Amino acid sequence: MSTATGTSTYLVWGAATHRGLRRTLNEDSFLADRSAFFVADGMGGHDAGEVASATAVESLRALARGAAVDVDVVRARLDEAQARVRAIESAPGRGAGTTLSGVVVVEHDDVPYWLVVNVGDSRTYQLSGGTLQQLSVDHSEVQELVEAGLITAAAAAAHPRRHVVTRALGSWPPPEPDCWYVPVVMNDRILVCSDGLTGEVDDARIVELLLEHPAPQAAADALVGAALESGGRDNITVVVVDVARGQDDDAGAVTAPRNHERSGAGDDTLPRTGRRTEEGPG
Ligand code: MN
Repeated sequence: MSTATGTSTYLVWGAATHRGLRRTLNEDSFLADRSAFFVADGMGGHDAGEVASATAVESLRALARGAAVDVDVVRARLDEAQARVRAIESAPGRGAGTTLSGVVVVEHDDVPYWLVVNVGDSRTYQLSGGTLQQLSVDHSEVQELVEAGLITAAAAAAHPRRHVVTRALGSWPPPEPDCWYVPVVMNDRILVCSDGLTGEVDDARIVELLLEHPAPQAAADALVGAALESGGRDNITVVVVDVARGQDDDAGAVTAPRNHERSGAGDDTLPRTGRRTEEGPG
């Protein structure tokens, strides 16, 4: 699917989700709509996880339709998601919760940015100039061990407590979501996924598949297929979004990334602007 976003650029995306080969339910949910792209991975007793992830993405759906989305609007929606997930009935002792990661296009001084959002260990990546970079930082026990220098990233991937998240929507006290600005750059590709992908497929293989499949839907399908081939031990959800050069007959322009050319980025790779929670990009 695609969204016309102005005279010069538009977004093209694809998404795929699968229950996997071991789980009886698919507790992942995703949102891929115009300018908002998120994946949520739910947890909790009975069907609470499924409801939690669906509730979280539904709380963000209005962002895809909003004309003036900024970080305050996004944070208000995240607060609402937290309250709604918190209110879900679940099995005693097993509160409903969900991760959430992804991007929404926001404008700052007429320049489009991805506002990268993360709570938990679903991930948002940027593929730029053939290089894959994880934009989000996992809120997980093993990530804390890596950052403390106690284990390597490779050891984290095999660690018995690798699935333990340190932040989730629905937990108490309320989690602090990360919000980062990253410039929207022509030809870049954003990947948002649940840990059912990254637990089965390493980054090198993810890059190969992203480069092998120019169409976002084909890329999303290929990534889910690779996770299934590797065992599919968890639910798998993948959203792929491309920043493409626009076509004249695309109507219905919405928020950003218009004025892309003014970002001064051209087609070159740009590093992320930094992890500046609550700060503007300028
Ligand atoms: Mn999962």
